[in-house]
Amino acid sequence: MIIGKIDAQLKGLTHYFTGAPCKHGHLVNRLVTTGACIECAKVKRKKCSPPTGFPKGRPRTGEIRPLSVNAIKMAEYRKNRQACDPTYKDAHNTRTSAWQAKNPERAREIARNSYKRRKERENGNE
Ligand SMILES: [Zn+2]
Repeated sequence: MIIGKIDAQLKGLTHYFTGAPCKHGHLVNRLVTTGACIECAKVKRKKCSPPTGFPKGRPRTGEIRPLSVNAIKMAEYRKNRQACDPTYKDAHNTRTSAWQAKNPERAREIARNSYKRRKERENGNE
């Protein structure tokens, strides 16, 4: 059933349907609140939620290991989150700087390790 945004609003509905696909080609209901199609809203929600099952702590042995699956997932999440939420990057940078000021030794170690890891990757055949 085709129902415009205003009509849906007047009837107290949360969704409406224009009969036309959204800019991503989804032919589904749209949200009265934002006008976004529910498929696009779903995709965005997924992108902006942190990955599940992320462990709280890792043993700090000082050895250099390849990035764990979770670390890669977290990095991806941060990237997506930054795209969705411009304030996230600033907040993250502030938190990181504060932590680095409190843990200079560990911060140096992490910087060294990530530098080595990057060098190894560059020297590899990727
Ligand atoms: Zn859509």
